[in-house]
Amino acid sequence: MRNKVIAGNWKMNKDVFETADLISGLKSAIKQSKAEVIICPPFTSLVVAQQLLKGSDIKLGAQDVSVHDDGAYTGEISVKMLKSAGCQYVIVGHSERRQYFHETNELINQKAKKVLASGMKPIICVGETLEEREKGIMENVITVQVKGVLVGLSEENLKNAIIAYEPVWAIGTGKNATPQQAEEVHQLIRKLVGQLYSWNVAEGVIIQYGGSVKPENAKELLSQPDIDGALVGGACLKPDSFSAIIAAS
Ligand code: PEP
Repeated sequence: MRNKVIAGNWKMNKDVFETADLISGLKSAIKQSKAEVIICPPFTSLVVAQQLLKGSDIKLGAQDVSVHDDGAYTGEISVKMLKSAGCQYVIVGHSERRQYFHETNELINQKAKKVLASGMKPIICVGETLEEREKGIMENVITVQVKGVLVGLSEENLKNAIIAYEPVWAIGTGKNATPQQAEEVHQLIRKLVGQLYSWNVAEGVIIQYGGSVKPENAKELLSQPDIDGALVGGACLKPDSFSAIIAAS
């Protein structure tokens, strides 16, 4: 049985003071949950988040990481820095990174390897655009992305990695994939993992859905057999809606 994992991607929202308010709201809103809960605030809020999460089951993640260890890379953040700030997870390959910062499957693969080597766990994002879906090439796009981001990852690595299926057309648009559309792609991803590794590995891998998950659609999405959790954007910025999604899992 795979456990559900609900992660909140705060994106470029919340300064240090707002972080403190949101975490305090989350701590009182989130009741005992069987699901694993992760929050991914901006880099500048990680240290304060680590302090405020002490004694809570909520885990801390980052939204991105550099492929470099240290040195002259202005603006970059290393795995060592994230670990020392208390992160256990790192999102890599979010579609906004692919779209606005031209991140490729190859770079995302390098980032995932860096995160794994550091002992943290990557949440590796894949997903097709609306144009790709409408052209009927969604399967091909997902296949190329999944194979590309997993190059060189071992079976053991897969036990410590999460794959997030995030159809780009559903992110921040209010338009979620239907549970059937999402389940179909989750099955495809699990099948690909099975082909690349083994059925045993495929059965164990956590595949989250992301794209306009909200309290109203969470239950139906999360009750699909191959949907093992959610990567939540907009709805994770309010304690009530994030806790309702967690409760729905
Ligand atoms: C996301 O940013 O990963 C996301 C899924 O955003 P939203 O829930 O706002 O669509």
